[in-house]
Amino acid sequence: MQPMFLKPVFKERIWGGTALQEEFGYKIPNEKTGECWAISAHPNGPSMIENGPYAGMSLDAIWREKPELFGHPKEEVFPLLTKILDANMDLSVQVHPEDTYAKVHENGELGKTECWYILDCKEGAEMIFGHKAKTKEELVEKLKEGKWNELLGRVKIKPGDFYYVPSGTIHALCEGTLVLETQQSSDTTYRVYDYDRRDADGNLRELHLEKAIDVTTVPHQHAGVAPKVEKRENVTITTFVESEFFTVYKWEIEGKAAFEYNHHYLLLSVIKGDGTLVHNGEKYPLTKGTHCIIPVGLGEFELNGELELIVSHA
Ligand code: ZN
Repeated sequence: MQPMFLKPVFKERIWGGTALQEEFGYKIPNEKTGECWAISAHPNGPSMIENGPYAGMSLDAIWREKPELFGHPKEEVFPLLTKILDANMDLSVQVHPEDTYAKVHENGELGKTECWYILDCKEGAEMIFGHKAKTKEELVEKLKEGKWNELLGRVKIKPGDFYYVPSGTIHALCEGTLVLETQQSSDTTYRVYDYDRRDADGNLRELHLEKAIDVTTVPHQHAGVAPKVEKRENVTITTFVESEFFTVYKWEIEGKAAFEYNHHYLLLSVIKGDGTLVHNGEKYPLTKGTHCIIPVGLGEFELNGELELIVSHA
């Protein structure tokens, strides 16, 4: 058994830029690249395995054909999606449904609870998080009248911050923010407000106000996070969130750190530094922008170097 390294998929977005190339060295398809789907089994952009016996297979195929690598999971589809987002311009203000609503209204899609680790942002950067309406009627009224300043909540952000964004939370990343996102494997977004922007063909993007009103939590519930920090030999592990959808950690490695996870498959994303993953005498290079999955039953492995990773499991 081997760790499975993944080839990212890139998405052009109206708000994208070139930071994925500048910061992560990825070969991006164009100058409006907004999203790197780093660990994905979603049909809109599945990742391919790059190494080992399953090289060339997509993650969704492995999930179906080799359930033992994932501990014979109960979920029908791979439940997680790891992305890196380059918000070179403001993203549309949006909200996502939860599982039951998405299943009924979006052809069996999963809902979308997500979380963000802020990799980088401009000094004084903000994002839109939550709303100030006290009742559904007030939400509808302010949305329809376009009273965005009165309605939308804003928070100041800085690199290293972590936000948990449950389905039903109105949110938007703002210009100049680079984020690692861990989310349910879903591509359903209800757009509330798009700053009246037009695409290259002069068209406004579609809004989804009725669905957004259906799924928005009123009043806004702020899901705060209280990171727990644990130090072990040559590694500091910060647990950001343990929710019904995912658990997300940051691992900061200095030197040689040993791990063994037998009950979960793990999603690893290197966000800083260089080093190696050592397993069974094999050495796999790790660098900023490398993503891999540690299958269930891999046994002991070692991370070596000066590294920061975001790690998650379902
Ligand atoms: Zn979102």
